[in-house]
Amino acid sequence: MGRTGNTNLSFDDILKRNFPIITDEYKAFAEEKSQCRKCSVYEHYKTVGMSEGNAKNPIFIFIGECPGRDEVGQVRPFIGPAGQRLRAELRKYPKVFRKDSVLLTNVLACRPLNNKFPGGDFKTETSKEVRTCTTHWLIPELKILKPKVIVTLGNPAMKYLRGDWGITANRGKWKFLPQCRAWSLPTFHPSYVIRSERSGQNHIVHQFEQDIETVVRMWKSIVGGDYRMSMSEDEWQRELALRHSVQLGLIK
Ligand code: SF4
Repeated sequence: MGRTGNTNLSFDDILKRNFPIITDEYKAFAEEKSQCRKCSVYEHYKTVGMSEGNAKNPIFIFIGECPGRDEVGQVRPFIGPAGQRLRAELRKYPKVFRKDSVLLTNVLACRPLNNKFPGGDFKTETSKEVRTCTTHWLIPELKILKPKVIVTLGNPAMKYLRGDWGITANRGKWKFLPQCRAWSLPTFHPSYVIRSERSGQNHIVHQFEQDIETVVRMWKSIVGGDYRMSMSEDEWQRELALRHSVQLGLIK
């Protein structure tokens, strides 16, 4: 069993606290993840971070960068200042963002040294730590939970999931992600929103608030208007195989 940060809680107690709804499949996933030592990032703080929310069938998944000091201490995502800023924004829409509709997670599960996200130039390359963590944990988590909407927070999460770079140009733009069969919308990382609030850059704060409001206002029509979202898993897999054949030039 992995370390449980600075808490006196057992791993099972953390699962109960973090996940009001959870399946056996996700429990097994979380336990395996908590024991991960697949890359060197673990060595700095020796705690694997955990997600929080509906671990069965969330509608929305919010993806940040990595846990910070508070998050590894408590083994809970988004509880430091940036997390509180995000949570405050979500609380404005209590009918939409509920404990049973949202899951919060990160691209990287462990806290990097001094919160420095690994990867020199994330614009042009994805570091091996991020590749390892997303391949083993983030993508499987998305495949288990099958959210309908993924909100990426900041450039690294957007780059990794959507292949886009430049949060200012791309924020608020919907994009379908075939690899997850979900719609995504990027916005600023809440730590940038806090810095902007402090420095009087009110347009950034306003755009962040607008993006969250866009999710609230549009998600049902975006998801409901897309035939791919209502396919059975078998139909979807056939659709993916067909696309793949077209891409390879096997079918015109
Ligand atoms: S960062 Fe991810 S891949 Fe690396 S040790 Fe932590 S959980 Fe494992």
